[in-house]
Formats: sequence, structure tokens, C-alpha cells
Amino acid sequence: MLTAICGINWGDEGKGKMVDLLSQDQDVVCRYQGGNNAGHTVINERGKFVLNLLPSGILRENVVNVLGCGMVIDIRHLTEEAGRLREKGVKITPENLKISDRAVITMPYHVLMDCLEEDRLAGKKFGSTRRGIAPVYSDKYMKKAFRMGELLHPERLYERVREIVEWKNLTIEGGYRHEPVSADEMIEYLKTYGEIWKDYICDVGLYLNRMDAAGKKIMFEAQLGALKDIDFGIYPFTSSSSTIAAYAPIGAGVPNLRLDKTIGIMKAYSSCVGEGPFTAELFGEEAEKLRAAGGEYGAATGRPRRVGPFDAVASAYGVRCQGADEVVLTKLDILSIYDEIPICTAYELDGKIVREFPYPDALSRCKPVFETFKGWKCDISHCRKKEELPKEALDYIAFIEKACACKISYVAVGAERDAVIKF
Ligand code: GDP
Repeated sequence: MLTAICGINWGDEGKGKMVDLLSQDQDVVCRYQGGNNAGHTVINERGKFVLNLLPSGILRENVVNVLGCGMVIDIRHLTEEAGRLREKGVKITPENLKISDRAVITMPYHVLMDCLEEDRLAGKKFGSTRRGIAPVYSDKYMKKAFRMGELLHPERLYERVREIVEWKNLTIEGGYRHEPVSADEMIEYLKTYGEIWKDYICDVGLYLNRMDAAGKKIMFEAQLGALKDIDFGIYPFTSSSSTIAAYAPIGAGVPNLRLDKTIGIMKAYSSCVGEGPFTAELFGEEAEKLRAAGGEYGAATGRPRRVGPFDAVASAYGVRCQGADEVVLTKLDILSIYDEIPICTAYELDGKIVREFPYPDALSRCKPVFETFKGWKCDISHCRKKEELPKEALDYIAFIEKACACKISYVAVGAERDAVIKF
């Protein structure tokens, strides 16, 4: 049984919490794209955890976790992240963590190039997390990156490091006029961290196929959401990887397997990190009120997120891109602050009303059309059954379900593991 958990919106929908919850009866949890630009927050009985590279299943003792071939892995960051979790008593061994030999290594010079480029762009910056993600994915497709499996064949790897660092310095030194990168230092870096992780590296495709053949349950955990997908998102203000569920079997290492179920995680209002068109955006005091109520500050970077009401146009598109069979609506409790809750139900584009999500260039000309819904104005964070929710909340949920043409299977009303209502 293969299930994908993916984001319907711009990311930060609360995927970490839901993977943590839904992984209770899973055998394997697999990340399939992105790198340590992710920031999945999980709060359970052991405390609060922010996971950047490790799948959220790492917090469950009986779950095996996989870092798939579609990922880019900063091996120093992975070492530090694993260290922080181990300090809190989380077990991380080659038995419960398997790293794809085909995953790509994010090198220190990728981080450097990300920073150099963001600084060069200055006022026109993209809002990168400065963690080297775009440069390392570019190198992957230039066929000038290193894969984790190469750490097991160091002689050939070190030869390639010398060739590639020479090529990199053409840009770093020649283009950006920055001090060149030292090939010896990069080799030392790979030796140090390669040693730490070498026993975790394997052919995860083979492992996952065997698990599937044995009838085990495998869950794929996405990073970010449909609107940040490199192909289907608000390009160029997207991430550099495929965030959609259809990519999960490829990015995990099992292109031969088919998903049985796709669960989309969708937030009851909108939030977005970074630049780019964000039609339903609120500004000033109104934005601050929602941002503060929802704690909308980046888990990976601490940056204040842009916020706005629920966007039915973008969310319906997100549901379609993800091919979601069902949706989990998160953070409904945050909307308790409102007497009247706005929803963006359409866009106005060049004087016309549109309900289909437009191409990114047209999107930047769109203005939101809001409708308002009666708020419930009471604390719903203790509700655990559908019947306990006020009528206004049920109406709000029913409207969203219809607007996105997808069944809502759970509603989350708090950050804690048990703060969910099954629908
Ligand atoms: P992810 O990247 O999709 O996992 O999302 P983040 O972890 O960046 O953001 C979700 C944040 O909201 C985290 O701090 C969660 O603990 C929290 N959260 C998740 N679901 C809910 C919910 O239903 N209500 C509230 N109040 N917080 C939630």
C-alpha cells in the first residue's frame, strides 16, 4: 500500500504533523524531493521537533525512514540534525534510516553560490532559503553533482571533485569575484561526512520494492506544496524540485510502483514564503493579526510568512495537480479570531472574473474577489468530533470541500498530535 502526503498550497500546510499522525500504522516513510530547505514541525509527547532532512517517521520507533534519490542532501546539516534528535533520545541507525545511493550531495559551494546570487540580486531577490538548493539541482541536471553512492567509491569521487571544483571556480572567482573554493577542503569535507553516513547508503529502490512485495505500508512525504512545484507552481518563484505526488515513486526510487492513495494537506487560510504573486495576500495590521494568530514564521529560517484568506482558486488547482483523493484541512482553530471570515473565491483578471488558476505572468495581474463567511468566534482547539464543531465551522468546511471538489477526510484544530477531527 503506497500513500503520498503532499501539500496543496505554497507549503507549510502542516504536513509534518499529519505524517507524524498518519505514520502510526506505516512501515516506511520516505522523503522524495527537496533538501534541508524543508522545515517540518512535529509536536508529540516527546517534545517539539523541527525536521529539515529526516522524514517525520523518524520519531516513530517501528518506522523505517528513507531519503530518496530525488532529494539533495547537505551531509553536514544531516549530521547536525541527527545529533539534535539523538540528544532528545531519538534512535537513528542504518536499520531505521536508509539513504539512496542516487540522492545528490549539496556541497558547501552550493550554499555559497546561493548566497552570492541572492546578494547580487539584492532588491530583486527570489527569497531563497540560502541553503544551496537551486545551485545543487542545477548541477544535478548539468551532470556535475555528486551522488551519495560516490562516497562509497572515494578514489573516483575525489578525481571528480578536482575537475568540478575547477569548473565551479570559473563562476565563483571569475564571475562573482569571490575567493576560490579549495578542492582539498572539499575532499576533506566529503571524507569527514562520508565516513559518518556510509553505512546508511544503499539501493533504496530495491529495499522499497521488497517491502512493497512483502505487503508493507509505505508513505511518501512531500516538502512544500503544489504551487511551489518547479513545473506546476508559480515559476520562477518556485522551489527547484517536483513537489507533486506523481513524482513520489520516482523521487523515492521506485518508478515501477503506483500510488494507491494521495492525501493532500491544505491550510484553512493561505501562507507563502518567498517572493512571487500571492493573490489573496493581506497587508499591514490585518496580515499581522493572522500571522501572529497562526505563528506564521518559517520553521527553517524564522522569516515572517506572507498570509491571506483561503484561496479557493489556487487550492482547487493544487488539488488537481496533486491528484488528491482526499484532503486534510489544517489550522482551522486559527480562524477563531474572526467575526467574519473572508475567502478568495475568484480572481479578477483584466476586468474579467476567472475561477481557473492562471499562468504565473497573468497571475501577477490578478486581484482577489472575496466573499465573507460568518465566523464562530470561539475556541475549537479542544474539539475532537465533528459534532462538537460549531455550525459556522461546519459551513466553512463544507464550502471549501465543494470549492475544491475533494473530500475533506480530517480537520486539524491544533498543533498537538491528537488535535484532529476525523470527517
Ligand atoms: P509543514 O512544512 O507542512 O510540515 O508545515 P510547518 O511545520 O512549517 O507549519 C505548520 C505549523 O503549524 C507547525 O508549527 C505545526 O505544529 C502547526 N500546526 C499544524 N497543524 C495545526 C493545526 O491544525 N492548528 C494549529 N494551531 N497549528 C497547527
